[in-house]
Amino acid sequence: MQPSAPQTPDFRPIIAEFVDVHRHYVMGENVVKALNGVSMQVRKGDYLAIMGRSGSGKSTMLNILGGLDRPTTGEYRVGGRDVSKLDDDALSDVRGQEIGFIFQSFNLIPQLTVLENLEVPLFYQGRVGAESRQKAEYLAERVGLGGRLEHKPMELSGGQQQRVAIARALMNDPLFLLADEATGNLDSSTEQEILNLFDDLRPDGVTIVIVTHNPKVAERADFTLWLKDGQVEKLVDNRTAARDTAAAGTSAAGGHS
Ligand code: ADP
Ligand code: MG
Repeated sequence: MQPSAPQTPDFRPIIAEFVDVHRHYVMGENVVKALNGVSMQVRKGDYLAIMGRSGSGKSTMLNILGGLDRPTTGEYRVGGRDVSKLDDDALSDVRGQEIGFIFQSFNLIPQLTVLENLEVPLFYQGRVGAESRQKAEYLAERVGLGGRLEHKPMELSGGQQQRVAIARALMNDPLFLLADEATGNLDSSTEQEILNLFDDLRPDGVTIVIVTHNPKVAERADFTLWLKDGQVEKLVDNRTAARDTAAAGTSAAGGHS
């Protein structure tokens, strides 16, 4: 055993936090405990993957993280504020302003151009104008679509469409990006492109939470939070896990190849 390194305190702000979150469904006589006491924190700049077997509570957690559902008991704090008891309108504002959604199916509007799709989140807030256009152009460039501003989604590949969706998710300067199987509809090389794009965005201070069943996708995140039966089974640091695997590989040189 080596002495453990001194712990450096983490001063980055907590932007999303579950405090003993339960989500129970009453089904006749039975209570299904989809989430059964989950506490976790996401800090600014984090990249977190949520994994677990079918039925472990991933979708329930995603829905609460995204402000689409509320805990039965416990707190969900976004930007330091408990949003778990907000009414639908207030929760919808949190959703629109603080969270950037990325879906498996992209969810772009087919009739609109790339540029117009990017302006949609601001349109609903009455904030479309010269500034939103500039921002859309900047973000399109940022995701590698500077030359496609006037294209419609149908004229783009799946990977390009997902890039548009990522740029759109960033239009509101959200506290974090929330991705639901964001690469589930893409072939593996396009999947890598999108995961590389997430990496490229991180120096900008972007915070990413993904829900996935694909271990190859999850291991690109810094941490994987494993759910089991509605509880946190473990939190794995993928960076040290990768190092450990590499070290094990070195020491096992000459073994199987
Ligand atoms: P996962 O996404 O990991 O497959 P879910 O969050 O969808 O898991 O579901 C967790 C548990 O909660 C499962 O047992 C599921 O059947 C139950 N559940 C999810 N949604 C509902 C619902 N609307 N009504 C009743 N039970 C539900
Ligand atoms: Mg699910």
